[in-house]
Amino acid sequence: MAKRLVVLGAGESGVGAAILAQAKGYETFVSDMGEIKPHYAALLEQHAIPYEGGKHTPALILNADEVVKSPGIPDSAPMVKALIEQGTPILSEIEFAARYTHAKMICITGSNGKTTTTSLIYDMLRRAGLDVGLAGNIGNSLALQVAQQDHKYYVIELSSFQLDNMYDFRADIAILMNITPDHLDRYNFEFQNYIDAKMRITRNQRQEDAFVFWSGDPVIDREIRKLRPTATLYPFGEQSAVSNQQSAVSDQRMNVAYVDGGNLVVAAREPLELPVELLSLKGKHNQYNSMAAAITAQLLDIKNDVIRESLTQFEGVAHRLQYVATVRGVRWINDSKATNVNSCWYALEAMTTPTVLILGGKDKGNDYSEIDELVLQKCHTLVFMGLHNEKLMEHFGKLVERQKTASLKEKKPITIIDTHSLAEAVQACYGAAQEGDTVLLSPCCASFDLFKSYEDRGEQFMEAVRSL
Ligand code: ADP
Repeated sequence: MAKRLVVLGAGESGVGAAILAQAKGYETFVSDMGEIKPHYAALLEQHAIPYEGGKHTPALILNADEVVKSPGIPDSAPMVKALIEQGTPILSEIEFAARYTHAKMICITGSNGKTTTTSLIYDMLRRAGLDVGLAGNIGNSLALQVAQQDHKYYVIELSSFQLDNMYDFRADIAILMNITPDHLDRYNFEFQNYIDAKMRITRNQRQEDAFVFWSGDPVIDREIRKLRPTATLYPFGEQSAVSNQQSAVSDQRMNVAYVDGGNLVVAAREPLELPVELLSLKGKHNQYNSMAAAITAQLLDIKNDVIRESLTQFEGVAHRLQYVATVRGVRWINDSKATNVNSCWYALEAMTTPTVLILGGKDKGNDYSEIDELVLQKCHTLVFMGLHNEKLMEHFGKLVERQKTASLKEKKPITIIDTHSLAEAVQACYGAAQEGDTVLLSPCCASFDLFKSYEDRGEQFMEAVRSL
């Protein structure tokens, strides 16, 4: 008898998984608590896959042999709880799809920089003429590609939620950019739970596989010492020597990629040297993203000329430190994808002029103190944009009080403006910014209070700026 595979969540990954499951002979069923988008419903119908929307019918779900769960559904959802209780295996779409391909898997995770690094690696592989698919959080689902046009290589962006439900999957090259607190609301507000999810990227790797990671991250360093991954380590960092004396890579004290005398050096193979100022992606964080991508490309035997071309010509990804326009001498930057505090830190770090910063949205258990220092250094105005700005008000209100009393007296105190819509926020910035300033939307928060998504927030922001 055919095995029954139930897919929870009829989005990109779920529908892809269902199509692949059907093609592989599973008795397949798709269930979504919410409304299914017409495009996905049409795809399911086209493949004659039974589905339901707006509900979960227990009798049709609890009889599954295996379940593929969309990464968006938390384990606390009642149906998921019931499945866990009765011991039904729950997989991510990536885990399921990987069973049916022999492709080389290049997987990228981290709290920040995933999409940028994934896109840059994809760009390098494409330029090198390799048969490559882009999957995970971006592009078409891995499952759909495996079902319809399998590739030789996949570059896969993995979130912690996907990693949570991966067990036998093995990455040929695993890339871990950094680990800073994010999504804690999904991890019982325990940072370690989130860390454990991220470290799953090295699970099942063998010595011939590569683990590329930022050696300057204390959390990653500690975890590597604890877990001792079997894969060959390829650390990258600011300098050639691994900075941490107690480093996990003590037997390998040198970073494989680093900056030396204004040059980016990448030496996983024959060394590549490139002036940092020629990198098309700006800011320190993007140097790390560029290093991770270039190491990966070298490991895949891509020529340094091709890597150089990509690093200097890659156009970047929308909503990440994206230049919007200069209006009356003020530069406006859309960094709507900065949905946690650490990404905003890097955005501020990259600012070279006095800055008006827009913050706010749906708070995910944020600790804003991480950006205090840079806010004091770079910002003269903070504009809060959200339905609930109380936490921001409290935190930065105190910071301004401290600023007034401390030795920073000579500087004019930071102005805080509280707004509750995008139009209000943009107007407030327009009023506050002086010629030569930058207005930066880098909100530290998810977008779901006022917007459909971070893309929607970025689009609306750019639209509003262009019509100033
Ligand atoms: P992710 O896919 O992990 O969310 P993105 O590449 O989309 O990462 O970048 C998200 C935000 O994080 C951007 O706004 C950018 O300013 C910041 N960022 C990008 N790369 C890094 C990095 N390596 N370290 C820290 N912050 C980064």
